[in-house]
Amino acid sequence: MTGRVVAVLGGGQLGRMLALAGIPLDVRFRFLDPVAGAPAAAVGDLVVGALGDERALTEVARDATVVTYEWEGVPADAARFLASAVPVRPGARSLEVAQDRLTEKETFGRLGIGTPAFAAVDDRVGLEAAVDAIGGFPAVLKTRRGGYDGKGQAVLRSAADVDAAWSELGGVPLILESLVPFDRELSVLAVRAVDGSVASWPLVENHHEGGILRVSRAPAAGVSEALQARADELATRLLDDLDHVGVLAVELFDVGGELLANEIAPRVHNSGHWTIEGAVTSQFENHVRAVLGWPLGSTAARGASAMVNCIGVMPSPGDVLAVPGAHLHDYGKAPRPGRKLGHVTVVADDGPTLSARLDAVQALITSV
Ligand code: AMP
Repeated sequence: MTGRVVAVLGGGQLGRMLALAGIPLDVRFRFLDPVAGAPAAAVGDLVVGALGDERALTEVARDATVVTYEWEGVPADAARFLASAVPVRPGARSLEVAQDRLTEKETFGRLGIGTPAFAAVDDRVGLEAAVDAIGGFPAVLKTRRGGYDGKGQAVLRSAADVDAAWSELGGVPLILESLVPFDRELSVLAVRAVDGSVASWPLVENHHEGGILRVSRAPAAGVSEALQARADELATRLLDDLDHVGVLAVELFDVGGELLANEIAPRVHNSGHWTIEGAVTSQFENHVRAVLGWPLGSTAARGASAMVNCIGVMPSPGDVLAVPGAHLHDYGKAPRPGRKLGHVTVVADDGPTLSARLDAVQALITSV
């Protein structure tokens, strides 16, 4: 018996998959989530309560070896409150940087990591000034806080879009960014251990629709050693700067071979789900290893992988499982349009076989 207990703030599918990776290591899990039927309740103890409620936080962290989180909306104060009693990994700073798009972009800039041009917007006059500061249109206006899956954003193609964007989003702190003509969207996932060692998985290519991740392919096609090295390096700089322990994801735009950082997630990430079957060590197992102070496992890919999200509706299990190399993950959530209910990972030894299997899986998945 290891006697290790990991307390997780948030009890969604990411928490559920963390436990599925940690249970073979005889690690027990206790989750804090506002919803009684949260997906992680199937694989650990669940404390039902608000993520900012000190009583609930104390209860979930009682006798825990370490506290971690699976949702970046956890109040930084909650992490700080717990840190006086038990190690919280990653720490409050990773949350603070990830929760504010301006701080996040300034952090990238301070570390020499390229970003789309950006400027803070605090009022209507400031919006006009920001358009000039970033070099004009097209641009995207985003709320600094609280946006996810493309929510809280408006694209401005010309001066004619300014009024509509302002009336949609104005009144809260905003950031204006150049809308970059990217060739593709990539992400790099990396993990940092307590001793400061870092490992990163191969770059992933991501396809979004309506701001929601639909498909990831890993390793991304046509990635040179130099490009992977640049991605590893920028992720390491962030991890070291934040003194982050655990997994961190960096969403990137590939613009003619140049990597521009869009945002970070200070936690395991949807674009890393392929690692469960497609890498020697999954993002979930390495996160558990990292926060418990254990050595990291190899992040090498085992072959070619693709992951398809099931959004709003789950496919028939029998149909998916009949596709060679397909692995079905159903989070046990009630269906709702736009909700991530599960995913399918497809693995193969080579790219052409993967593409054929991916086509077969995608034909079974309809999103609503
Ligand atoms: P985000 O919430 O920042 O991840 O944005 C959601 C999606 O909008 C991204 O995955 C991109 O497809 C697109 N997007 C966001 N910011 C930009 C940008 N500055 N330039 C081009 N596309 C963007």
